[in-house]
Amino acid sequence: MSAKDILTQTPLGLYCPGGDFHLDPMRPVPRALVTHGHSDHARSGHDAVMATAQTLDIMALRYGEDFTLSRQMAPLGEWTRVGDVRVRFHPAGHVLGSAQIEIEQNGFNVVVSGDYKRALDPTCLPFEPVRCRAFITEATFGLPVFRHPDAADEIAKLLASRALFPERTHILGAYALGKAQRLMALLRRAGYERPIYVHGALEKLTAYYGRQGVVLGEVVKVVAAERPKLGGEIVICPPSAIKDLWARKFPDPVTAAASGWMRVRARARLKGVELPLIVSDHADWEALCTTVVETGCEELWVTHGEADALVHWAGGQGIAARPLHLIGYGEDQEDEVLEAA
Ligand SMILES: [Zn+2]
Ligand SMILES: [Zn+2]
Repeated sequence: MSAKDILTQTPLGLYCPGGDFHLDPMRPVPRALVTHGHSDHARSGHDAVMATAQTLDIMALRYGEDFTLSRQMAPLGEWTRVGDVRVRFHPAGHVLGSAQIEIEQNGFNVVVSGDYKRALDPTCLPFEPVRCRAFITEATFGLPVFRHPDAADEIAKLLASRALFPERTHILGAYALGKAQRLMALLRRAGYERPIYVHGALEKLTAYYGRQGVVLGEVVKVVAAERPKLGGEIVICPPSAIKDLWARKFPDPVTAAASGWMRVRARARLKGVELPLIVSDHADWEALCTTVVETGCEELWVTHGEADALVHWAGGQGIAARPLHLIGYGEDQEDEVLEAA
């Protein structure tokens, strides 16, 4: 047996014939298994969705209660039979509720990891390596040049800038699901005690994290008329909002953004970011390689991102690796959706 006996590649993404379901499908399907709530993986309109309780909640928050006809909650670490296969969800350490999906048929197991990271994130369960015959990975930062620094050091840069410019508002662009809340938690860990101000687009998800027991301290929604009074404060907003008219009403704003892509200076400049913070919710090169080794896999499929270097590296480790070049997954799509939010 091999991975292709369990999973096939379709224009909608990966499909499991034995269980008759798609994984993170791009368009509505009869049955979807969803790794996490980011909009490029979790879409509305499927007849049935199986995901962790938190991912189901997040989908309902983003798309409305009618995002699917039928929800099935996947308890972490427990097998569920789906058609001729068994599936089991494991933490992926990416955002709240994110999971890897293990599929087993006739004693052969495949793990579809979705998006994941290995770095510390106080807002979600840490990634759990799962021994498997075949491992399906992303490679968003799959080049040796990508080495994410310690997120705490990046938060220290933000606090240093605030100390340097105590009259200016620091406006920090971050994805509404996961990144924004992780930054809040990291700011608290760094001893920051002021209220953290948020753009309205972040309010619902941040409140949900709070209800799930993630400690974020005092979080206050920005009231438009109050913007001129928020000098010296930290305001978190969707990445697209840092260059909006909305952002210009704060006192002499310093525009910051937190993303793995902030490593690429040209990208930071293009987005009008003065203070780029390299904080990523994806594995960097070393974490990708470490993870592949820890799974003990003999086959590796690379879904999206910088597949070629990882495939080449895996070949050198005696792992049969291939790139899938699945289209439609990627961080930038988050931007588009948030712009509308
Ligand atoms: Zn994601
Ligand atoms: Zn993704």
